[in-house]
Amino acid sequence: MTGKKKRPAVRPEKGTQRSKPSKSLEKQSGRAKKRYSHTVFEDWCKKCGICSSFCPKNVIGQDEHGGPVFERPEDCIGCRFCELHCPDFAITVQELDSDTVGDV
Ligand code: SF4
Ligand code: SF4
Repeated sequence: MTGKKKRPAVRPEKGTQRSKPSKSLEKQSGRAKKRYSHTVFEDWCKKCGICSSFCPKNVIGQDEHGGPVFERPEDCIGCRFCELHCPDFAITVQELDSDTVGDV
């Protein structure tokens, strides 16, 4: 046993926060823009601010304790920098298909 954490299941559970995707479906080049939702496992998040710092689209802000706040989820490009750089595997990004958008 290495003691390494496993990446959590995508489904949010108790003690998690989830961003709310935009409900509008913008058309770009004749295709619907991809949408993403984000889940933070708050028990694992140490509020280091790395996810906020790495986000190239300024989707993630910080609350007064340094924890992530999804201020502009509609600007997310799904690069997963936040997920890949989180040292505690505390954040995941999920692509929403067009059928899901508006239902969340
Ligand atoms: S990088 Fe991970 S641990 Fe740090 S604030 Fe973001 S979600 Fe929390
Ligand atoms: S997937 Fe990329 S654009 Fe979206 S919130 Fe994470 S770092 Fe920002």
